Order: sequence, then C-alpha cells, then structure tokens
Amino acid sequence: MHTRKRILVTGASGLIGSHLCERLLADGHEVAGVDNFFTSSRENIEHLMDDRRFELIRHDVTFPFYIEVDEIFNLACPASPVHYQRDMVQTIKTCVHGAINMLGLAKRLRARIFQSSTSEVYGDPEIHPQREDYWGRVNPIGERSCYDEGKRCAEALFFAYRRQHNLPVKVGRIFNTYGPRMHENDGRVVSNFIIQALRNEPVTIFGDGSQTRSFCYISDIIACMLAFMASPPDFTGPMNMGNPEEHTIKEIADLILDLTGSRSELIFRPLPRDDPKQRRPDISLAGEKLGWSPRVPLREGLKKTIAYFENRLRACPC
Ligand code: NAD
Ligand code: UDP
Repeated sequence: MHTRKRILVTGASGLIGSHLCERLLADGHEVAGVDNFFTSSRENIEHLMDDRRFELIRHDVTFPFYIEVDEIFNLACPASPVHYQRDMVQTIKTCVHGAINMLGLAKRLRARIFQSSTSEVYGDPEIHPQREDYWGRVNPIGERSCYDEGKRCAEALFFAYRRQHNLPVKVGRIFNTYGPRMHENDGRVVSNFIIQALRNEPVTIFGDGSQTRSFCYISDIIACMLAFMASPPDFTGPMNMGNPEEHTIKEIADLILDLTGSRSELIFRPLPRDDPKQRRPDISLAGEKLGWSPRVPLREGLKKTIAYFENRLRACPC
C-alpha cells in the first residue's frame, strides 16, 4: 500500500534536489524543500511552486531547522569544485554543521535520513574501481579538502548517530552525475563542454585529458536514491551510486563535439591540483541490496542534456 509521506529535501533547487522533489511529488508525497540558493536559483523548481503539496523554504542548513517530517534527504552543499572552493569555510560548515543540524532533526523525529556523500571521499584513489570498503586517499589540506574532508566528517557523524542513537541512516556515495538543470557556470566538465561546444568556443581540457570519470544520468541517481531510502533500516550503506562506465575526459570532449556537430577546437589547460586521475564506482552492493543498476546510456543522457542547454542558450544567448 502506498502511504503519503511528508519529506524534507535540503538543497531542493539544485541539480539533484530539483529532480528529487519533482519525483517525490509525482509519487504522491508532500515535499518541503529547503535551499539558501548558494549555487542555484528558484528557476529549477519554479514549475513545482503551484503544487500545494510543495513548500519552498529559504534557509541555510548551517543553522538549526525545525519542521515535522517523516523522511529527510540531505543534499544541501555546493557540488562542483568551482563552487565549493568559492567559500571553503562555508563549504565545511555546510557539510559538518548541516549534517549535525539535520541529524539532530532526524533524531527528534526518529526519521530516516539520507546523506548525499560523494566519490570524493575516496580522493585520488589507488584502488580501482572504488569499493565501499576502500578508505580513500585524500589530501587533508589540499584545495579540495573543504569538500572531501567535510563530506568525510559528515559520514563520521552519520555513523556516530547510527551507533549512539540507532538512527536509521542511509549514506550514498554519489559519483559524477549530470543532466538537465546543471548550472551553466559551475565549471563541471559536462556543462562546460556542452556550452563551449554549442557556442563553437574552444573546449577546455584540463591536463592531457587522460584522467577518467564515470558519468551517471540524473534519473538513474534518483531511482537509486528512492530504492535506497525504501530499503530495510539496517541497510545503512555507505553505498556507491553511479554509472560504472568509465571514460577519459578527452573521450567525453570528442563525444560532445560529435553530438553537437560543433566546430570547436580542443585546447589544453593545466590540471587543477589534486584532480583525481581515475574514478569508477563498483556498484555491486547497490545491485545486490536494491537490484539497481543504471539504465540511461551516456549518449542518450548527453543528448537530453544538450537539448536542455540548447533551449537555454536560445532563450538567453548571452
Ligand atoms: P547543486 O550545486 O546543483 O545543488 C546543491 C544545492 O544546495 C543548491 O541549490 C545550493 O543552493 C544548496 N545549498 C548549498 N549550501 C547550502 C546551505 N548551506 N543551506 C541550504 N542550501 C544550500 O549540486 P547537486 O549536484 O544537486 O548536488 C547535491 C548533493 O549531491 C550535494 O550534497 C553534493 O555534494 C552531492 N553530490 C553530487 C554529485 C554530482 O555529480 N552532482 C556527486 C557527488 C555528490
Ligand atoms: N575538466 C576539464 N575541463 C573543464 C572542466 C573539468 O577537463 O572545463 C576536468 C577536471 O579537471 C576533472 C574532470 O574534468 O578531471 C571532471 O571535473 P568536474 O569538475 O566535472 O568534477 P570532479 O569529478 O573533478 O569533481
């Protein structure tokens, strides 16, 4: 039997948050969306505002928050290196104070709580593909550490609340996710390359483009998140969530040029410090526990994302 729940989504207007809110409403739930619009605007969720089951609250998760809900998805946090390095102290506060505040709320309500952790907890990994029992190789004082260590601390908090208060936590380690509603200026590789290609501007490859990533389409991540939240309470994760199909960044650039029919040239720029050389999730745990695996092939997902950016550029070519 389907029961209507009241669900809190933090980071509601971001890439993942907006798709999650949309899906939860479509499934018949009530959704309270929290966001401080640090890396997004209302635009991503504008189309949900007329739904009476949706409530949008402007709030920064680094401050305590009081609400009555059945479940919590804690997504609030800038996700792209450009964004999370813009205010490193705020990024750490969002990861750590945000987790403490949301866990405190979940503890009072005895609510299930999902934490959007990240493949960045593995740092620049020497184990490949990455399995959940790998502890990672993170530079604790590097330029990415505000995010990587912030997210690692958040995981520690989630498992401390689990051990100490028996809280039903769900920790998902999300790998690179892409799709419509990515921010055009957040510097992530897929949005950067698509916009550069559509404008016939040079496509900026950092390093020699041999570093790898594995890209998962947004609808696959949302399906995984919902299945995880619905799984038995003793399955806490951490669990990898992503697409194990691995590509070099140069391959991604070539594919986007091909799909957009662009005249752009490829240019090479210095590789940012601590940029992981390889990244691919081992998703056997998600397969075994949830029967989940990604369905959307890279070409299909990229086509949809390209169509989204084409529309945006048509509306505002600036
Ligand atoms: P996003 O930047 O599109 O969305 C994040 C949202 O959080 C934005 O709307 C932003 O305004 C909001 N936010 C930031 N700080 C906040 C604060 N202090 N209080 C309230 N709201 C705040 O990013 P996304 O891709 O949707 O990522 C969502 C979550 O998933 C993040 O926690 C991110 O770390 C995690 N994640 C994403 C990816 C990915 O590839 N997209 C990979 C791994 C993990
Ligand atoms: N990258 C690139 N050109 C760009 C943006 C990113 O070559 O214009 C590279 C970046 O150095 C990294 C990969 O693409 O190796 C993925 O970067 P992104 O910022 O999307 O996410 P990350 O996985 O590094 O967090």
